[in-house]
Amino acid sequence: MVIKMNNIDNILEFIKGSNDFIVTSHINPDGDNIGSTLGTYYFLKKLGKKVYYILDDFIPSNLSFLVKDIEILKSTDINIKDYNIIALDCGDKKRICISEDLIENSNKLICIDHHTSNDYYGDLNYIDENASSTSELVYNLISRYNTLHNEDIIDEKIATALYTGLITDTGNFMYSNTQCTSFDMAKELLFKKANKDLIIKEVFQSNKFDYYKLLGESLNTLDIYENKIATITVTMDMMKRNNLTFNDVDGIVSYARDIEGVEVGILIKEKEEGEVKISLRSKTYVDVSEIAKSLNGGGHKKASGCTIYDNVENAKNIVLKAVLEKI
Ligand code: 5GP
Ligand code: MN
Repeated sequence: MVIKMNNIDNILEFIKGSNDFIVTSHINPDGDNIGSTLGTYYFLKKLGKKVYYILDDFIPSNLSFLVKDIEILKSTDINIKDYNIIALDCGDKKRICISEDLIENSNKLICIDHHTSNDYYGDLNYIDENASSTSELVYNLISRYNTLHNEDIIDEKIATALYTGLITDTGNFMYSNTQCTSFDMAKELLFKKANKDLIIKEVFQSNKFDYYKLLGESLNTLDIYENKIATITVTMDMMKRNNLTFNDVDGIVSYARDIEGVEVGILIKEKEEGEVKISLRSKTYVDVSEIAKSLNGGGHKKASGCTIYDNVENAKNIVLKAVLEKI
């Protein structure tokens, strides 16, 4: 029986009593994925633990500044026994971006996450779907540690990592997941010297010229259905033509959502032949996590995703049908 229970203190106790950890997150990394994992990595390091940061995917170029001082390993790089895993920001066990072997052979799997669709798959869980970001949960965890042990663990590196997760998942404090606690956290992290200006410059003001060319091409694919649904399509050819990799193309779905009158924005993005990544965003009332779940994906009420194994045209029809049923 799965007990759906959060217990920060149990997680902290467990961390205190153990030595070897893998920290990791989900496929197609974003700011909260890397921010929360890196914040946890530095936290564990400060506690004197042996920590491996493993992610079997590529870091997007606008987030690589965060991890330039550390080594991110692939599952095949290590051969360890007797370790625990902390999976951050992974709404679904299947999305943890390390090998199944590593997951199955770990002592304990700790899940820290804020996705609505999370089913408490960890041995120990800290899940709060109302949290702005997983970085906010890591902030709470470290703050609790500080309180219990009368310490002051958050330094500039941890603050910068967590601040990145906070502002990327809240869309710079724009989305409805932004709460009073998000601002409390931001204030505290700025006190701790989170490098806010560097983050803004690297994440939002370092887009490649080629990205804008791709964006232009993408906007030409805009379609509107029933004045409420907007789609944008990005094919492998478009990315190749503009010298961009799959993980470098992020943020385009908001152009679909942000059109006047549109409730659901959809990005249809071809990853490989026969594999299409879908991003879903809603503005006010549609729960896109339900739609994503019906297509074997998941996420949050207003931001979710899934993968459809078909060609681009069929994938678009499949997702449109699912959205039309819910709107
Ligand atoms: P994005 O559209 O930016 O890839 O993802 C939006 C949100 O949905 C993120 O929080 C992401 O973790 C989640 N998400 C995206 N794709 C999937 C998926 O295939 N399965 C699950 N469970 N969540 C997903
Ligand atoms: Mn997140």
